[in-house]
Amino acid sequence: MSKTHWKKFQNPDYIGAYAFDEGEEKVVTIDYAQKEKYTGNGGKKDEGLVVHFAEKDVKPMIANSTNSKRIEKVAGSPYVEDWHGVRIQLYTEVVTAFGETGPAVRVRDFAPKEEFYCDDCGAAIKASDGKSPRQIAASTKKRYGVELCANCATKRFEAKKAEEAEEPVNENDED
Ligand SMILES: [Zn+2]
Repeated sequence: MSKTHWKKFQNPDYIGAYAFDEGEEKVVTIDYAQKEKYTGNGGKKDEGLVVHFAEKDVKPMIANSTNSKRIEKVAGSPYVEDWHGVRIQLYTEVVTAFGETGPAVRVRDFAPKEEFYCDDCGAAIKASDGKSPRQIAASTKKRYGVELCANCATKRFEAKKAEEAEEPVNENDED
């Protein structure tokens, strides 16, 4: 028989410490944030900023001022309209609030460190030309169908150029 952890009964509508394994951190993408009415802990009706994530398996987060300030820092903007698409990293921390001590969800005050690997050579994709590894992986995926490091992207680009340069010769090859 499978057993049910007490955490499963916590805040079913919003993300909370219950959604994290010990020491787990989640990297999530903000979809949108807006003022919403919600029912907080203990059934108290309240209204505040709620952050929704693009990841469908991650529940929305009621953003207190600590977390809102950290999102502002990561996003580089205090305006919630600018938060769309911003990646943040969530973790849990034991905090004392309203006389009670327990784990709470916190936003890291730095952008998530992400690793992307080149599909051609296997090396970690490094930031280049002012583009983040994520941006480079996305743009090479779009152009070549694979995620590439800057070196391998250049190689593919040169190979493609050479191929294209040969094409007219093939077309005129009447035999
Ligand atoms: Zn490579």
